[in-house]
Amino acid sequence: MSVRVRFAPSPTGALHIGGVRTALYNYLFAKKQGGQFVLRIEDTDQTRFVEGAEEYIRESLTWAGITPDEGVIEGGEFGPYKQSERKALYAEYAQKLIDEGKAYYAFDTPEELDEMRERLKENRIANPQYNAVTRTQMKNSLTLSEDEVKALIDAGTPHVIRFKMPKNEDIRFEDIVRGWVVVNTTTLDDKILMKSDGMPTYHLANIVDDHLMKISHVIRGEEWLPSAPLHVMLYEALGWEAPQFAHLPLLLKPDGNGKLSKRAADKLGFPIFPLNWTDPVNEELSVGFKETGYLPDAFINFLALLGWNPGGERELFAMSDLIELFSLEKINKAGAKFDIEKAKWFNQQYLKNRSNQELAQEFMTLLDTEVSIEIAERVVANLKERVTFINEMVEAGRFYFERPTTYDEKTVRKKWNELAVEKLNGFAQEIANFDSLSAEQAKELFSSFLAKDETPFGRVMPALRLALTGQGGGPDLMEIISILGPSEVVARIEGAIQTLTIE
Ligand code: GLU
Repeated sequence: MSVRVRFAPSPTGALHIGGVRTALYNYLFAKKQGGQFVLRIEDTDQTRFVEGAEEYIRESLTWAGITPDEGVIEGGEFGPYKQSERKALYAEYAQKLIDEGKAYYAFDTPEELDEMRERLKENRIANPQYNAVTRTQMKNSLTLSEDEVKALIDAGTPHVIRFKMPKNEDIRFEDIVRGWVVVNTTTLDDKILMKSDGMPTYHLANIVDDHLMKISHVIRGEEWLPSAPLHVMLYEALGWEAPQFAHLPLLLKPDGNGKLSKRAADKLGFPIFPLNWTDPVNEELSVGFKETGYLPDAFINFLALLGWNPGGERELFAMSDLIELFSLEKINKAGAKFDIEKAKWFNQQYLKNRSNQELAQEFMTLLDTEVSIEIAERVVANLKERVTFINEMVEAGRFYFERPTTYDEKTVRKKWNELAVEKLNGFAQEIANFDSLSAEQAKELFSSFLAKDETPFGRVMPALRLALTGQGGGPDLMEIISILGPSEVVARIEGAIQTLTIE
C-alpha cells in the first residue's frame, strides 16, 4: 500500500504551532515511507472563514520547509484540494447514505431542538442528544411519511441530513499512538452530515476526501480523537476501508497544566504562531517565531521532539535526519510540555553552526550602517556564541561600529584607575605605529608591553575593554582590537581617558 497522508487545516485564523507539528509529522512520515504529503484546505464552515488564513498556512509551511507534494498550488491528480470546490461530491455520498437508510433528513427547527434538550434535562438526562432514542420523537424522515418528507423538501423547508448511528454497538479501532480504542454507540449522537446551507460538515467532507484522495494514514491532533469513532462508522456505512489513525499528544503549557493556548503563550511572552499574524478583527499583531529570530531548522528540530523521540541522547537533527529516523510508533501518548528555553537553546546551536559567511550576509541586512562583508564575517564570528538570535547581534555588536558614549559603571568604579590609564596610554602609543593588527599580534604586543614591568593582565584588560566597548564583558578582546584597527583603538582609548574621571 502506498503511503499518502494529508494535513487538513481549516483557514479560520493563524496556524498554531501545534498545527505545524501535525504538518511536520505527516511530512516526515510521508518522506520516510516514500509516500505523498497532501495539503487539503477544509473550508466548508463558511461562518469561520478568515481572510488571508489560507495564504498564511502556506507561507508558514514554506518557511518551515514542510513542502506538500499535492495541494491547491502544487496540483495533483486527486484535486481539487479545497473542500469548497468539492461541494457536489459530498451531496452525492450523503444521498447514498439516505438511499441505503444509513442517514436521514431532519426538519427540526432550532426551537424544537431546544425544547427537546429542555425536556430531557427535566428528566435528569445530563447530556441531551439527538440519538437513537430521541430521533423517534423528532421531525425527521424516520418519523414522517415518505409523502410528508417529499412535500417538505419540495417546499424548500430547511433541513439537515443526519447520520443514523446504530444502537448499542461497540466501535473498535486501533490507533497507532493510543492503541485500541473502543466506544459504544450509545454515547454518540446522530451527527449532522449535511447542513441546511447545503454544505457538508467537517465529518462528512473529511472522510469522503480521505477516501477519494486515497489517504492511508490520518495523523492529526488528539482533539480529533472523539470524532474518530464516528468516522470509523461512516467508512463502514459507505463500504470503505478506513485509513489508519494516529492521534498526536497535546502540546501543554510549560508547567504541564493544561493545553498550550495563545493566551498562555502571550502571558509567558513567547510566540505561538510560526510567522507574524495580525488578527483581522482587532488588528492585534502576534509576533511569529520567524520574526523573533528563530531559524527554520532550529524551529523544526525543536518541534519534532515535542511528542516524539527516536531514543538516545542525541538532540540535534536536521530535517534529513528526522526523515530518516521518524516512526509513528515512537510518538508519545502523554502530552508534551512546551519549553521555550529549549527552543532558544536549539536556536543557539543552529546559529553557532551556521557559516560566518551566511550569518554575515543576514547580519548586514539588519544593520543600519554600511560594513564590508569581511568585517561583518569577523563580527558575527566574534559574537555568535554569545547570542540566541541573529537580530541580537545588532545590539550586541553595536560597539564595533559606534564609539561608546556610556561606560559600564561597575567596571569604571572597580577597574578604572591611575595604573590602568597609564598603561592604556602606553599601549596606545605602541599600537599607533601599526596600520593593522591580527588578534595574535595584538595579544603579543599587549602581553609584552605589560611584561616590561610585570603588570598583571587583570589590572589593565578590563579597562581596555571598557575603553573600547563601554562594557564590562564581551567577546574576545584581541579580536575586537583587530577588527577595530589600531587608529580606532587609539581614538577610543583617548576618548575614554577624556570622559572618565578617576575616583
Ligand atoms: N480541518 C480539521 C482541522 O482544522 C482537520 C482535522 C483532521 O485532520 O481530520 O484541524
